[in-house]
Amino acid sequence: MMKVNIEAAISRNEVYNLIRIFDKSNQINFDENNSISLQGLHLFIENNRILLFEDGRESDKIDIEIDTLTYFNEKEADRLKIAIKHSLYKMLVRHYSMGSKYGILTGTRPVKLVRTTLESGYDYQQIEAVLNKTYLLEPDTIGRLLSVCSIENSLLKKDAENVSLYIGIPFCPSRCHYCSFISEVCTDESELNGYLEILIEEMAIKADILHSNNLRIKSVYIGGGTPTVLSERQLDRLLKTISSCYNMEQNMEYTVEAGRPDTITPFKLEVLKANGVNRISINPQSMNDNTLRQIGRDHTVKDVVRAFNEARSVGFKTINMDLINGLPGEDIRSAENNLAHIRELKPENVTIHNLSIKRGSDYYKENYVNLIQTEESEKVNRLYRKELEKSGMHAYYLYRQKNIANNEDNCGYACPGHECLYNMNIIEEIQTIIGFGAGSVTKITDFENNRIHRIPNNRNLQTYKDKLKSNYLITKKTIEHIGGRHG
Ligand code: SF4
Repeated sequence: MMKVNIEAAISRNEVYNLIRIFDKSNQINFDENNSISLQGLHLFIENNRILLFEDGRESDKIDIEIDTLTYFNEKEADRLKIAIKHSLYKMLVRHYSMGSKYGILTGTRPVKLVRTTLESGYDYQQIEAVLNKTYLLEPDTIGRLLSVCSIENSLLKKDAENVSLYIGIPFCPSRCHYCSFISEVCTDESELNGYLEILIEEMAIKADILHSNNLRIKSVYIGGGTPTVLSERQLDRLLKTISSCYNMEQNMEYTVEAGRPDTITPFKLEVLKANGVNRISINPQSMNDNTLRQIGRDHTVKDVVRAFNEARSVGFKTINMDLINGLPGEDIRSAENNLAHIRELKPENVTIHNLSIKRGSDYYKENYVNLIQTEESEKVNRLYRKELEKSGMHAYYLYRQKNIANNEDNCGYACPGHECLYNMNIIEEIQTIIGFGAGSVTKITDFENNRIHRIPNNRNLQTYKDKLKSNYLITKKTIEHIGGRHG
């Protein structure tokens, strides 16, 4: 357990996120009372120094040297926060005898920091120096960020006229214990039909926003949940509604998350293909039946292989597979087994996630403690990276999540030419995404002011339905406002 007193210009949340990299006990208490705790660790954070007490005795002290660090173009107040984090991190490294590859960076979009810094005039060398010396990132991590950034820069273009559509189907055939998403367990066709009716109404009313503002669709992503929980007929109806309401360019990126193999049938795959879908995800998470049972997925490894082969027979040329590092009982041997399957199936995309236990998941409610050790977890990530790169793939997008195990990242690998533009855009926030469906979020990029306007749909089905019209009006107004300023 650790007690923390803050008398400095930094928020509890920022301090908490940094300490959590080291202290996995989830027992970090912020205290208003200044008296030194006689048991355990007690941190005092001030604007010019940090003190650490252990069982009532001062065990470490570090000065905050704001002027000795080099920064990007952050404001003065942010520089002080960075300097506090820099010193706190160094003190924690000394105490716990461990560090983190991301140093003091705890945000979810590390590549975005690199990209925006490049755009503001810094060169690669300067970025490397600040990330290493001030933000304390490991050189290997900086190399990965720079490499992903340069791939993204070669594929993405800032363009206010291009948008993507995201269509959410928040239903799944069963609940994975690690999942914190709003998805509900549902396979009942009539209930799903009720949802589809609202979704189709939303698609129809929002179409005029794109037409009247001359917005071109660059990619469509149907995600979830598990969109393939819909029946063949329902999928066909949804896809036909999209193509009748919106101008879809030929060969445009069109993705459906067919995530759970237990929902995939050859007929559904044919419906997707016939309607122009050209990328799908078939997500095993693990290629170990025991693990799949333990994490609440109602399918086997055999189902994954069957669904994958059916997708190939139907003609899908870009298939993604998600794996999660850190699932209960898994280690380097499990990763080797996963890789053996991947080598055999040869998907064009593989996304490696690191388990992150968030509020809303069964594991969070059960106080599940991540069992994989940092060293083992790193070995697994290194192995995946080495083997996927050896097979010709490259890391093309990455992001991080709250509470992610061992302060790792989630990383998408792709064979060149098969990168998913939507994935890059959603993480880097450089394209407007129009969201449809309960819980989806429309994100409108305002390049001029460097802002993202978020317009969420409610998660509750009834409220989502009741607010369709107002959500449409806000979206339309915001796009016209930003468009007008550009015009
Ligand atoms: S399939 Fe995905 S969205 Fe559905 S419960 Fe599992 S992790 Fe959550």
